[in-house]
Amino acid sequence: MSIKIAIIGSGPSAFYTVQNLLKADINCEIDIIEKIFSPYGLIRYGVAPDHQSTKNVIRVFERALLNENVQYFGNVEVNKTPSIEQLTNIYDAVVIATGMSKDRSLNINENEIKGCYGATEFVNWYNGHPHYKELNPNLNTKTAVIIGNGNVAIDCARLLVKNKEELQNSDITTYAHKSLLNSKIEKVYIIGRRGPLDAKFTTVEIREMGELLDCNAVLSNGTIRNIDQNLLNDDLAKQYKILTNFPELKNLKNDKKKIVEFKFYNSPVEILGNDQITGVKLKNNFSDKNDNEYNIIDCGILISAIGYEGNKIPEIKMDDSGMILHKDNIIKNGLYTVGWASRGPTGVIGTNKHDGAKVAQHIINDIKESNKPGRTKLKELIINNTIDYISKEEWILINKEEINRSTGSFPRSKFTSNEEVYHFLKNSK
Ligand SMILES: Cc1cc2nc3c(=O)[nH]c(=O)nc-3n(C[C@H](O)[C@H](O)[C@H](O)COP(=O)(O)OP(=O)(O)OC[C@H]3O[C@@H](n4cnc5c(N)ncnc54)[C@H](O)[C@@H]3O)c2cc1C
Repeated sequence: MSIKIAIIGSGPSAFYTVQNLLKADINCEIDIIEKIFSPYGLIRYGVAPDHQSTKNVIRVFERALLNENVQYFGNVEVNKTPSIEQLTNIYDAVVIATGMSKDRSLNINENEIKGCYGATEFVNWYNGHPHYKELNPNLNTKTAVIIGNGNVAIDCARLLVKNKEELQNSDITTYAHKSLLNSKIEKVYIIGRRGPLDAKFTTVEIREMGELLDCNAVLSNGTIRNIDQNLLNDDLAKQYKILTNFPELKNLKNDKKKIVEFKFYNSPVEILGNDQITGVKLKNNFSDKNDNEYNIIDCGILISAIGYEGNKIPEIKMDDSGMILHKDNIIKNGLYTVGWASRGPTGVIGTNKHDGAKVAQHIINDIKESNKPGRTKLKELIINNTIDYISKEEWILINKEEINRSTGSFPRSKFTSNEEVYHFLKNSK
């Protein structure tokens, strides 16, 4: 009898696991269980819409999904129904690949004041995640502040300042495209608590900031003076050289409409405003300054992009950041974990390959025969709980329609709500 395997989540780590299981010479039936209607996790909802080439890996994952031994159960959230315990009872192997989708907190008053968003919210909004469609971030303001010095901070800044021409060929959602092009934002600050040499930007992403059509990238005054030249080694120097090609604000020949300013050695200590954000108070962290030096930046929107935490999963032990506790990706007999859920929120799509290969190998080594019902019992559970799941065949229809209905240079026009999806499926039957 074929081995019954359930994979919870459908991001890169899930698909690398599926790929490796399919490559192996084993008889298996794989069910991918995903909490929203569409597969591919952060490739669809994290990777920036103007970075289409990064999303090409979906084509490889699509081949795995189309394999006759693989089935898809979209709009089924594990924790609600089914639970992990139910799944381990009905499958020989269960793999948790749920990623990390909670924004790390700034630990100040950001949740009390409107106009402050976590990167998860903002990124999911422009990428059309069905849970964030109604976010309506405040773009009716001249200044935005982004906290964080990683690529996600740069993605958010870039999307805020790109023009119509630069958003062509992207799969940005229609509503976000419209809002961003009508936005009043002229100035975006990217704030780092340490210096440019500690920033986690990759060179490609920084270089792109210097090539924007309507926007100059600049450094805050004094940035270059504050860099310790002795700290530079070859790798860091590469990033440093691109960053320091940007002028300091005082030397900017202001030839473009918008500015992104990189401001280092500052941490937010308070969001200002009564109901809606009016500014942010920053503390200067540079070591030779006195302890009480603060700056205030007036702004109408703040996005915090300082990393992610995992959501709690009942019955599963985690550390304080929501990372699942495991030994070599094994949680217990027949229960495994991969990707960000197991490793924390670091690395690119390809970093998850290794986890997928390892867990597939564990499953092949650990499970030699099956005595569990798998898919038939899952369907029973889902139907008994009146969950209208999205099947693989339905996802294929949705995917085709997104491509067919797109206009102009946009490669697809995403469905952004369950209502829209179920309405389309009803009419296409
Ligand atoms: C904003 C952003 C931009 C990025 N840009 C790039 C980039 O340009 N290039 C690059 O190489 N990497 C990029 N990355 C990193 C890359 O996306 C990650 O390395 C990768 O997606 C992690 O894969 P994963 O499978 O662990 O998690 P995810 O991709 O997050 O997938 C997890 C999946 O599990 C589902 N899920 C969660 N909980 C449940 C549940 N209870 N039941 C069922 N399903 C559930 C989620 O809906 C999701 O589909 C980016 C990351 C972010 C956050």
